[in-house]
Amino acid sequence: MTKGRLHSIETFGAVDGPGIRTVFFLQGCPARCAYCHNPDSWKVDGGRDVEVEELVHRAKRGSAYYGKEGGVTFSGGEPLLQGEFLLEAIKAIKAEGYHVAIDTSGTYLDEHSEAAIAAADMVLLDIKHVDPVEFENLTGRTQEKLFPLIEIINRLEKPVWIRQVIMPGYNDTEEYIASLNEFLQQIKTIEKVELLGYHAMAVKKYNKLGMEYRLKDMKPMNKARLQELKKLTYMCK
Ligand code: SF4
Repeated sequence: MTKGRLHSIETFGAVDGPGIRTVFFLQGCPARCAYCHNPDSWKVDGGRDVEVEELVHRAKRGSAYYGKEGGVTFSGGEPLLQGEFLLEAIKAIKAEGYHVAIDTSGTYLDEHSEAAIAAADMVLLDIKHVDPVEFENLTGRTQEKLFPLIEIINRLEKPVWIRQVIMPGYNDTEEYIASLNEFLQQIKTIEKVELLGYHAMAVKKYNKLGMEYRLKDMKPMNKARLQELKKLTYMCK
């Protein structure tokens, strides 16, 4: 059996897909998002070894709380970076009857990605920025993988929840929301769009790790303004 690398596990997760979920944060990410909450998930050789069996066991343990909607989410890091392990883990967890979501940043794809997405019930797709230049500034990666990923999602007709972080003085404008709305029209299976207000809770983690936090002067997103923008956003409930 393939071994994976695990960053952490969250039980009773309520913000990573429908219902209450067990969230497996897989280790390793090719992106370097300026606001990343888990910079300790970046290195592929960080975290610890994990086997599919352990994840199935943990998924079962949380299952009393899943109800009709909940289940398991693979997040990261970037879960598609461990595509072979991800696919095995999804199949094993699906075999137990649980709903599975993949939370991806759209910054990585390889020969295992499509099979993993096909095996999952849904995708949570983070749109880092619709503009290619800003996307690269924010993540350190190009949009090169994003469009093939969207093509796969469309072809497989996988339900998608879109997530977009809104940052004050950066993309908290009507213009940005209009360009986001336009961008999203190419994804055929969107069920919901979530706007997430930027907050600076990651700063302490960067300090602790001795890493520089690029957004140290950015204030948390104003809640009232975020509500206004939500009203203008496609499929945002
Ligand atoms: S994709 Fe996610 S884990 Fe990777 S750097 Fe960005 S926010 Fe962090």
